[in-house]
Amino acid sequence: MSLDPLNDASPEGARCALHEDVLAIAICSRCGSYACAECKRPGYDASVYCVGCAPTHQLAERGTRFAANLIDQIVVYAPILVLGILGGMFEDEDSAAVPLILLGILGTLGALVFQCVRVHQSGQSIGKRMMRIKVVRLDGSRADTARIIVLRNVIPTLVGSFCSVLSIVDPMFIFGNDRRCLHDLMADTIVVNVDE
Ligand SMILES: [Zn+2]
Ligand SMILES: [Zn+2]
Repeated sequence: MSLDPLNDASPEGARCALHEDVLAIAICSRCGSYACAECKRPGYDASVYCVGCAPTHQLAERGTRFAANLIDQIVVYAPILVLGILGGMFEDEDSAAVPLILLGILGTLGALVFQCVRVHQSGQSIGKRMMRIKVVRLDGSRADTARIIVLRNVIPTLVGSFCSVLSIVDPMFIFGNDRRCLHDLMADTIVVNVDE
């Protein structure tokens, strides 16, 4: 872990907030209190926290995130795929094809809206709920709906549709130590296990 001049600023002469007789070696990047070697905790990023502020969640496994993402993709795209293919089978009879394809589009839009509602209610999409993982901020606090939807989904999808390289590069970032995709870095989020 590299030394961050802000977080690891040596609090000269200061004592640990919990242990009065021990010299502090770090300043918590969240609450700003002094922490001794025993009280200092690493964050998911390079930040340093005190015992009280350290995130307690466990990072979600890459395979779990992959499965959750797969479920979400199926939930959203299945209606338009299935009904689109069905519609295609009736291509000679326009009367049947058009309503089927429209129904598929509606189904996919409905699934997207439902996903947004779920994320707003619990911070979890359907796939993430099934795999018992969720998106939180770097310090473990709740990630708000707009952050999850806009920064982690809408913008990456839009940019990815103009510049397909991003769609490949984005998930590759998950192989870093903190398992954060590019969209996690953009939204300042991590994906953790839901401990229940
Ligand atoms: Zn703290
Ligand atoms: Zn201490």
